[in-house]
Amino acid sequence: MRPPAKVAARNDRRRGFAWILRQLCASEQLLDRLAAGDIVAVLMELKARAKSGDPTAINVLGEIAYQQCYLGRTDDVLEGYQASQLTSAQALPSMDRESYSTALREDIAFDKQMKAACSQVIDQDQVQSWVEARAAQGDGASLWLLVNLTNHMAERQQRLRDAAAAGFPEAQFELAWTIIAGQQGAAGTGTDMFNAGDLLRQSADQLPRSEGELAVCELSGCYGISADIDAAVTHARDAAQRGFVDAVIAIGPHLSPSQMDPDEVSAWTLVQASLNQQGCAGNGISVRWMKSATDTPGSTTITSNARTLADQFWQQYGAQMRELKQIGKQMTQAPDGQVSLTDPDARSMATSGRGTGIVGYNVQTAVDTKHHMIVAHEVTNVGHDRDQLSPMAQKTCAAIDEKDLTVFADRGYYKGEQILECEQAGIKTLVPKPQTSGNKAAGLFDKADFRYIPAKNEYRCPAGERAIWRYTRVEDGLTLHKYWSSACSRCTIKAKCTMGENRRIARWEHEDVLDKMQRRLNRTPQASRIRRQTAEHPFGTLKAWMGATHFLTKTIPRVSTEMSLHVLAYNMKRAMQILGIAPLMAAIRV
Ligand code: SF4
Repeated sequence: MRPPAKVAARNDRRRGFAWILRQLCASEQLLDRLAAGDIVAVLMELKARAKSGDPTAINVLGEIAYQQCYLGRTDDVLEGYQASQLTSAQALPSMDRESYSTALREDIAFDKQMKAACSQVIDQDQVQSWVEARAAQGDGASLWLLVNLTNHMAERQQRLRDAAAAGFPEAQFELAWTIIAGQQGAAGTGTDMFNAGDLLRQSADQLPRSEGELAVCELSGCYGISADIDAAVTHARDAAQRGFVDAVIAIGPHLSPSQMDPDEVSAWTLVQASLNQQGCAGNGISVRWMKSATDTPGSTTITSNARTLADQFWQQYGAQMRELKQIGKQMTQAPDGQVSLTDPDARSMATSGRGTGIVGYNVQTAVDTKHHMIVAHEVTNVGHDRDQLSPMAQKTCAAIDEKDLTVFADRGYYKGEQILECEQAGIKTLVPKPQTSGNKAAGLFDKADFRYIPAKNEYRCPAGERAIWRYTRVEDGLTLHKYWSSACSRCTIKAKCTMGENRRIARWEHEDVLDKMQRRLNRTPQASRIRRQTAEHPFGTLKAWMGATHFLTKTIPRVSTEMSLHVLAYNMKRAMQILGIAPLMAAIRV
């Protein structure tokens, strides 16, 4: 059934945002709000989250900044397009014409609204520097966002390969597609050379389009993919059931009736027409698609059997959508926006900033540097370590009844408030700072190039100029002092420093604690080696014992118990090694 034109236009907008923003981990709620026109509020929220380093917000904002803002068409172009489309629409039957014109006007009005919101909220350079910083850390989605920012073919191909290697599905799909299309140099060279078939298989789970493209290639074989009709049919059907119908329609006419019933192909063609009418096919609102969505169901070549089949497919879609909507509702209500269908407590974990995540648990351990015994441990389902430093350090102090403690942790634990809490509890910390500087990634001076002079409460910039205190304000709960120099406008090295009017430096009110820790780290160059060989030893041993497997239990209480048993076994074996069995037994009996 055809929905009202405004609904179809809204569906089309939502699909336009969803195809890529979902891959960038945007929530369904955010997609709803964007499609409904709550644009300024959404962009402001994303900007605030991006400022505080939220990777999803950075990538979503990066995509919007490029596609919607940078590539967005001017009002004149939009109006010209609207006028030409309305003229073409005269060829449509009157009901279609009316419906199409309403949807088109909605679309154009939305594009103008989007453009205005972009210029109100988005600073392209700022967003780009955030994305570049994420890309420098190996984030696959951010690497992919950078592909379009260069016109140099070899550089584009390299960025696409980097993003594909980091596991970002869209990059894998696009790289496969360019290899299949025969673009010279796309696959790379030597042992790092990419294979289109592998890329499509890797991304097929997340992208029905990849599965569809795989099916089309398998029909007669193409670069890196052998011909396999059975596999082609299976993949095309799977992709259609997941919403990508094009592959069945493309390969169906080339198959014999025993390989794929022509009624099945017609049925999927009808489904495609319905998706178009609903604005859910991802083809945009155009006269051509409106015409095909009307003509296809009326075709006399479609048998009644095909229509019955199409009804079945459509109902299956409906059931699937209802199920997904229910899960979407649960996700919206979940405090962290996640739902795990296998283990209700498991959550997505950050994995080395490579744009991928494993659903599971985060096991924290504190290990002593001398004997490599696990002194304290904790199982959490928080996907990062930023809030774990102080709780784990304090738990360790309590376990060994020792106040004078020095803790080594990796960059993932770096958070000012956590380091401050430790210092206030008398615990010395050694945590390297993550390399997230957008300026550094953009080839500009890093904050470390500015020297703070405590006695004067000012900075000395790389040009030797004074950057003095200007004002103080609270951002994301942190009190920040802002400094800048009055010499920037006449500075000869400004191009290496800032693209703005002047370079601003922010200093947290407790930054002296971080400076102190940095000095301690500078005096302890072996800190990172000590941490690695201490904290990773028990994990390596436990994983060797467990094998390449998962926890055997589900939910936090059970997984915590399972982990405790592993830790107990590990510590017992360590104690046997260190003390010997007899002294250990004697100590236990005391
Ligand atoms: S641009 Fe300003 S802050 Fe940067 S080096 Fe020059 S004077 Fe110093």
